[in-house]
Amino acid sequence: MIVQTTEAIVLQTQDYKESDRLITFYTKYGGKLRGIAKGARRSRKRFVNAFELFSLVDLSYRTTRSLVWIEACKLVEPYLELRSDLERWAYAALACEVVLEMTPEADPEEELFFLLKEVLFHLVEGKEPQNLILLFLLRFLNKTGYLPALDRCSICSRTLRSAVHWNWDMNQGALFCPDHRLSSKGLSLDLGTLMLIRQLRRLPLDRIWRLHISQDNKDRIFNSLVEWICGQIRKDFKSLKLLGQIHPAQDVF
Ligand SMILES: [Zn+2]
Repeated sequence: MIVQTTEAIVLQTQDYKESDRLITFYTKYGGKLRGIAKGARRSRKRFVNAFELFSLVDLSYRTTRSLVWIEACKLVEPYLELRSDLERWAYAALACEVVLEMTPEADPEEELFFLLKEVLFHLVEGKEPQNLILLFLLRFLNKTGYLPALDRCSICSRTLRSAVHWNWDMNQGALFCPDHRLSSKGLSLDLGTLMLIRQLRRLPLDRIWRLHISQDNKDRIFNSLVEWICGQIRKDFKSLKLLGQIHPAQDVF
């Protein structure tokens, strides 16, 4: 079997049998991969500190029938700054959990790899972590096909610029103008936020991070998005519990 090499980000680490570890990565060339590191718990020499959550690594592996066999894993960037700040750590962990739960195995999407790598890089700088994670979530949902068009009313087709207040019903995947809003459910979005989302899905990835969701809307959009994502995967994210403890006043789902 040929040994393949790729950049990868550690999404999850679990003990396996007596001395092994099971590690799930999001890789640049292979998408999400689950690999076994033989003897990783017995000898630390072979995989020095390479299996910490959201570390960037150079991974060498062989593919077997069900799992990949980790030949070598070299730490490239441990994102140490994220490990000393609980809030940024929790947002980074959330990004990894979303990728872990919502991407299929062995389905390479290079943009998703770079999206995760870049959000971790920007979280290290620590500028408004909640804004960064919202940009990450919206771009992720767009890339994975979960984000509806959000460019006109789903009933009368009037375009965005014809109204200020809109309603996004996530479960229906529909956007409603003020005349066709069906219920009080859904997420209220103003024109400015919808135009920002339009930019967010069109810009090259490295330019999305300068976008800024208004302070008044951040908590609301964050809570709605994560609640909807948790409904899709039918489980809660551990990182959200941590965020709820950090911001008890913020109604984190
Ligand atoms: Zn309408």
